[in-house]
Amino acid sequence: FLPTRAFLNGPQSFATALKPRANNSHKGSYGDVIVVGGARGMAGAPVLAARTAAFGGAGRVYVAFVDDGLAYDDKHPELMFRLADRVEFAASAALVVGPGMGTSRHAHDILARALDSEAEIVVDADALNLISAEPALQHKLHRRSQAGAAAKTIITPHPLEAARLLDSTTQQVQQDRPHAARQLARQFNAITVLKGAGTVIAFPDGEIAINPSGNPALSTAGTGDVLSGLCGALLAQGWPARAAALAATWIHGAAADQLVASGLGPVGLTASEFIPAIRAVFNQI
Ligand code: AMP
Ligand code: MG
Repeated sequence: FLPTRAFLNGPQSFATALKPRANNSHKGSYGDVIVVGGARGMAGAPVLAARTAAFGGAGRVYVAFVDDGLAYDDKHPELMFRLADRVEFAASAALVVGPGMGTSRHAHDILARALDSEAEIVVDADALNLISAEPALQHKLHRRSQAGAAAKTIITPHPLEAARLLDSTTQQVQQDRPHAARQLARQFNAITVLKGAGTVIAFPDGEIAINPSGNPALSTAGTGDVLSGLCGALLAQGWPARAAALAATWIHGAAADQLVASGLGPVGLTASEFIPAIRAVFNQI
């Protein structure tokens, strides 16, 4: 049993993954993100994740809806909308699965297909709830990364989602957050971002990082979708999953800190307003 190795997350944790854009690059150089989610009436969550993926530098961003959703985002016509049933989850894409996905049988089947794909995946929200409820999906999640190989999966539970995954309670998770995050990372063989004030990032080998950025302006609907979209953007751009999880978490919090410093919070910041600040921080570092 390895001793816990813990460190404070910051730009130095992911500095080696930050690379300037090559002059001769093209959109294919920055990868595809496919956000899988959006049951009927829940189109907003995947759109927030998709917008963030575009603001976070992905080459192309798709939304694969579980049910019929939007055809078009008139604020961001660069986003492409599809029905998940008609989307192939190519190994080269980065998937963000779960925002607004619902927990229907249809959502379950799409999630199973995503977990079986070779693509790198960020698993969030209802995808985590579906996994909590079904051992077969837990098994699929666990077997995505071979022991010793680089992790191909990032999970981003908030404390209640974490409690469901651990068959525990929110109170127990919050009592020892590093412990809960490490348990999840080991149990599911996935990089685990346990959200909430002082987000804990845990790796399957037992290492953990504590994230110092962020503030209660983030305690509002949609900010979790923004985080998963940013993780997806970094994976699509070829970042190792470890650096992607650390950078997304830090940048997300730092963007909120800058907005509060400029007077746009802590009261009343909205998730969609917050996305451009992520791009600003990313370009500053
Ligand atoms: P979710 O619960 O999925 O919508 O995600 C909320 C996001 O906001 C996560 O990234 C949390 O870490 C972040 N967040 C919420 N409240 C706070 C807080 N009080 N301090 C720092 N980050 C927060
Ligand atoms: Mg969420």
